[in-house]
Amino acid sequence: MESLQKHHTFGLPVYAQKIITISRKKQLIEFAQTHKKSTPLCILGKGSNSLFLNNFNGVVVLIKTKGYKFYEINKNEVLVRVNAGEDWGRLAWRCSQMGLWGCENLVDIPASVGAAVIQNIGAYGQEIKNLISTVEYFNLYEKKFYQQKMSVDNFGYRESVFKNPQYFKSGEFIITKVELLLKRKSLANINYPDLLKIFEKTKNIQPINIAQSVRQIRQTKLPNYKTFGNAGSFFKNIIIDKNKLTELLQTYPLLPHFKVEDNFYKVASAWLIENAGLKGFAIGDVMVSPQHALVLGYKKKQNRQEPQPKKVLLALQKLINHIQKSILNKYGLQLQPEVIIYKNSKINE
Ligand code: NAP
Repeated sequence: MESLQKHHTFGLPVYAQKIITISRKKQLIEFAQTHKKSTPLCILGKGSNSLFLNNFNGVVVLIKTKGYKFYEINKNEVLVRVNAGEDWGRLAWRCSQMGLWGCENLVDIPASVGAAVIQNIGAYGQEIKNLISTVEYFNLYEKKFYQQKMSVDNFGYRESVFKNPQYFKSGEFIITKVELLLKRKSLANINYPDLLKIFEKTKNIQPINIAQSVRQIRQTKLPNYKTFGNAGSFFKNIIIDKNKLTELLQTYPLLPHFKVEDNFYKVASAWLIENAGLKGFAIGDVMVSPQHALVLGYKKKQNRQEPQPKKVLLALQKLINHIQKSILNKYGLQLQPEVIIYKNSKINE
């Protein structure tokens, strides 16, 4: 067994039967030649959106293919071709520094580029789907690379066609490259309250100004996984219809809500959890972050003593159930995890 502790941001000492690191395309083809379909497979980028509730009885493949290149398309458009293992945060910062528009609201989301596509990462009114033009992926069983042209219709809220088993079976394909289309000129996207407060009266805003502000806001609002093991937003925001919204607003007039399409509204799960009195709520060592109600995690011990996985994992399962039950009872709404949860095998004693 090999430790997954440093390969996921929850940082729990869970194990996989085998861990394979892919840093070049060639290694992927070699892996495909030996891998058996019957062996469970988990593909990880930075492991910032995955929770292992017990040991993984199979192979974990770490995608670490780095690097990106810029191509001038026309006066206003620049194409970025990037390998899937590249660090999203690093790329987004670099593009913003270069004065390219598109990634600035998405800086510092801890993700690999490939995982960012699958999840359609989003923050401060921007989603990666608005930037993606092409995705290259490798089919492990056909041992073939495919290029797929993408459009915004291939994505939803924290969803993508790559999560739809009708088109892509989990464990059968690996995203290897992504092409993003960025702009030299664009309007700044500052509609979210935190950004509007800062930039309302600013003229001549550059992408790097927004990137710097987003970095600062995130640092104050979100716990750092290095000291508080977590996987970012644990639950998705909830989409409800107008009737349900009207009903909820009668009891909770302050409920933040945003129209997503005709008759449908998104409500902020962080508000639902906080308003239910659960911000900072703890079971054993695990808690709802006192900083941000959508983040679940645990304080890492300073003396480097490993947390006891079984205790932490049991507490985490209880906490997830407790939050989901409380939100269902109080508002009649079902919270769905945003985090991908693996629970296919037993914890080692
Ligand atoms: P916030 O600004 O306190 O807003 C609370 C919620 O209201 C957010 O969930 C956001 O939805 C929604 N919202 C606010 N203004 C909106 C607008 N003008 N139009 C539509 N929806 C609006 O949120 P926060 O918790 O500090 O997070 C800030 C941003 O970072 C959010 O976009 C959040 O999703 C993002 N974030 C992303 C990740 C991730 O990708 N893993 C992790 C943490 C935070 P949305 O969440 O749909 O934007």
